[in-house]
Amino acid sequence: MGRENVENWSVRKCSDACCACGKAFADQEGLYSKLSFNEGEYMRQDFCLSCWDKAGPGLSSWKTIFIVPPPPAEEAVKKENAESLLRRLIAKEDEADLNAVFILAVMLERKKILVERDVQTAEDGRKLRVYEHRKTNESLVVVDPELKLTELEQVQEAVVVLLGGKPRNDGAAQDVPVGDQP
Ligand SMILES: [Zn+2]
Repeated sequence: MGRENVENWSVRKCSDACCACGKAFADQEGLYSKLSFNEGEYMRQDFCLSCWDKAGPGLSSWKTIFIVPPPPAEEAVKKENAESLLRRLIAKEDEADLNAVFILAVMLERKKILVERDVQTAEDGRKLRVYEHRKTNESLVVVDPELKLTELEQVQEAVVVLLGGKPRNDGAAQDVPVGDQP
């Protein structure tokens, strides 16, 4: 039921307290994060180490540490980078951005900003990759569109343009006639 409204991608922040006993996490405290699937939505729960044993296995879980979120930076005016673009596209929740979201996640993984925690198969057969942000410990669930090599190049090109770069084949596509002009 309802597999169309599966929330495929999302950013889940690390909670600031254990979801079982309510104890607030200290900076650098070890904890376990569990992702579970609940009525079409991914849910992230964070457990202190002593509650983890009673929590039972989740769909996906990993050990991480709690990091006190940094105060809002003055870099708010900074120009768009791969991470801010990824966050913006995820917030838009537009299926059309799915490929770009995936490429950005892979780029950020290569830059060691994200780390892959798990790969899952959704009810509809789509491959989902769970990433965690190394600095903020947010978790992200991203659909792997399993692009072919040729599609991959096109999407990478589009992402470069979104990031303010120039496409490699600039010009070639601009001579294509539009409409019925002779
Ligand atoms: Zn606890």
